[in-house]
Amino acid sequence: MTALRVAVVGAGPAGLYTADALLRKRPEAQVDVIDRLFAPYGLVRYGVAPDHQGTKAVTRVFDRLMGKGNPRFLGGVTLGRDVSLAELRARYHAVVLAIGCPADRPLGVPGEGLPGVHGSGAFVGWYNAHPDHAAAEVDLARVRRAVVIGNGNVAIDVARILSKTPAELAASDLADAARGAIGASGIGEIVIVGRRGPIEAGFTNAELAELGRLSAAAPMVDAADLPEGIGDVAEAERRMKEANLATLRAFAGADPASKPKRIRFLFHRAPVAFLGGDRLEGVRLRAPDGTEETLSCELAVTCIGYRAAPPADVPFDAGTGILPNSAGRVAPGLYAVGWARRGPSGVIPTNRADGIAVADLVLADLEAAMPPREGDIIGLLAGRGAGVVTWDDWTRTDKAEIAAAEGGAPRRKRLSVCPA
Ligand code: NAP
Repeated sequence: MTALRVAVVGAGPAGLYTADALLRKRPEAQVDVIDRLFAPYGLVRYGVAPDHQGTKAVTRVFDRLMGKGNPRFLGGVTLGRDVSLAELRARYHAVVLAIGCPADRPLGVPGEGLPGVHGSGAFVGWYNAHPDHAAAEVDLARVRRAVVIGNGNVAIDVARILSKTPAELAASDLADAARGAIGASGIGEIVIVGRRGPIEAGFTNAELAELGRLSAAAPMVDAADLPEGIGDVAEAERRMKEANLATLRAFAGADPASKPKRIRFLFHRAPVAFLGGDRLEGVRLRAPDGTEETLSCELAVTCIGYRAAPPADVPFDAGTGILPNSAGRVAPGLYAVGWARRGPSGVIPTNRADGIAVADLVLADLEAAMPPREGDIIGLLAGRGAGVVTWDDWTRTDKAEIAAAEGGAPRRKRLSVCPA
């Protein structure tokens, strides 16, 4: 009888927590974690802000798991290119897709393709040295005002990173290109634009309050935009909304001229067009009463959410932007977890709970049937000349990144695996 074999596609938090949960319940199983990139950790490495190193410390938990040899790391292997879903399903008793939501949701307004307009996935990928986005053409030299569209934590991350001084970014693992460009930029104002009001914003309070402690940028809020109280909100959100309102009130009472740069909150404005000839020159915004205004800007980052982008043989619901699933089950033997399952929401620990639940579902389904499977995937990949990045390759690369760090940075991120 073949031992239980599970493939987890995606080495981000959802995939790694799932692998961990599977092995805790069934230590004799073989779990392979496949990722198209040479580096593990998914959004922890490429999404979490480079100045939030405390959040990235969760990689130590993942290192302890992966250092055991099972799960096995198969990096640099792309589903749909190096191996098909059908081939995986023939070799594993279950396939769990933890492939996230890597594509930017488009805003769908004219001018979105102008140079100077970026989706947050691409922009965050640029400053986090994601191999897909590291070479993006981000020109900050002529930017005086940047507009950040969206009222979630990604919008806060983008505004904060753009506003920080080189000294504030020294201890981050910001990509080389971004460190140079942000350090040299003359950005004077960053405007965070929300289509709804302060109570509807998705900010968590720790992230919002951090904007009040920046060395060169002062937050700016129009007191007239702030309601008396938070009104009728779900009990679970009450404390957060109250804290956010108090923080925004404090921002409204502070002196925006106390620091050289401003981070200005503009609520109840929906973007209707990006304007410009060869490059972005402004954004047209519409208020709820229908009036429109143009805000000049040379950079715009849309932080309005993400979609999954699976290969053609993976079920995908274009309407919801995720893999169609019922509590994680996509088809018999095929599962989705994390953002691919529920959409781009929640924090890293949300994916731990998700991973445990999906692992339980996989194991419960396999109680019923565990048909024989074909041989090890390594043979198939080797036959195709697909170079697999092993965990040893990654740990060598990790050490090289740490050794190359300068000026207080924790690491200098590479864009490819370190040669042996
Ligand atoms: P988010 O919190 O869902 O925010 C998305 C924002 O985009 C919302 O304000 C939404 O407004 C707006 N939006 C959507 N469509 C729009 C449109 N057509 N025009 C204008 N605005 C539009 O998501 P996120 O900021 O991308 O973050 C994703 C997840 O990662 C969240 O759960 C977030 O908390 C988490 N995250 C956490 C941290 C952290 O803990 N430090 C950092 C980054 C991200 P509406 O509300 O009106 O739809």
